[in-house]
Amino acid sequence: MTDRYAVIGNPVLHSRGPQIHAAFALQTGQPLSYERILAPLDGFTRAARAFRDAGGRGLNVTIPFKVEASSYATRLTDRARDAGAVNTLRFDADEALGDNTDGAGLVTDITIRLGVELAGRQVLLAGAGGAARGVAGPLLDADPAELFIVNRTAETARELARRHRSRGRVAGGAFDDVAHRSFDVVINATAASLAGDSLPLAASVFAHCSLAYDLVYADRPTPFMRFASESGATQVSDGLGMLVAQAAESFLLWRGVRPDPLPVMAELRAERALADSR
Ligand code: NDP
Repeated sequence: MTDRYAVIGNPVLHSRGPQIHAAFALQTGQPLSYERILAPLDGFTRAARAFRDAGGRGLNVTIPFKVEASSYATRLTDRARDAGAVNTLRFDADEALGDNTDGAGLVTDITIRLGVELAGRQVLLAGAGGAARGVAGPLLDADPAELFIVNRTAETARELARRHRSRGRVAGGAFDDVAHRSFDVVINATAASLAGDSLPLAASVFAHCSLAYDLVYADRPTPFMRFASESGATQVSDGLGMLVAQAAESFLLWRGVRPDPLPVMAELRAERALADSR
């Protein structure tokens, strides 16, 4: 029987997981199936257990179940424990291994695809929600000179910085706290772009910026990306590369083979451009 995988969430219809993993399976010659599971808001554990009992080998977990999935897992990778959230589950005979591949996806996309160094750089991370919690640890592992985390609710950013205090130069605060500073890399891990909002960042923040990265997947530059470009950022990117790279990390955990995210990314972009031109 073909090994079964799925993405579980609510909502889940928007997930590009099936398309991405079908492309990875083709690219690597790994036979597998990948489906979407819409779980009731109070039914994550039931749905995950039913999938596993029916022979399911692994799950991607999306909104709003990432925290619940970390309690469901019987063992956690270090990065999932750090994040307090799980986006990938692998089912073996005697365990459900929980991992979080978001941060690895982001760091890979920044350093490999975009060719931007994080080591020794001043990095600003905006946001302190689930996505920011997933990426803060892997960003620190990339050895920046400083990671400054800002959030609309400043205390949440300070708390996230405190959690990582032992791992390097990390601080947290409000957007106002960085009003007179500039950063080499600025990462938007807030949900502001989803609502079409920009961030309350001064133009000077981007004066020496070599990359402004928005985690949101967008067909057109987001307000954050536009403002960053206008304010001096030499390169801007949306989050499609992270989305595909974190999926590649999940695939590696499940299948032991690392697919190349670049052709799959190009395919998704081309498809979107074609849909827009119709
Ligand atoms: P959460 O709901 O957990 O957190 C939302 C964060 O955004 C909080 O820090 C919140 O601040 C902040 N925020 C929300 N609205 C605004 C606003 N108008 N202005 C400033 N800050 C705002 O969401 P996630 O962390 O899960 O997701 C954040 C983004 O990351 C989403 O857009 C999501 O699509 C994207 N993402 C992309 C991935 C990828 O692979 N490319 C993977 C995961 C997420 P406060 O605490 O004050 O409420």
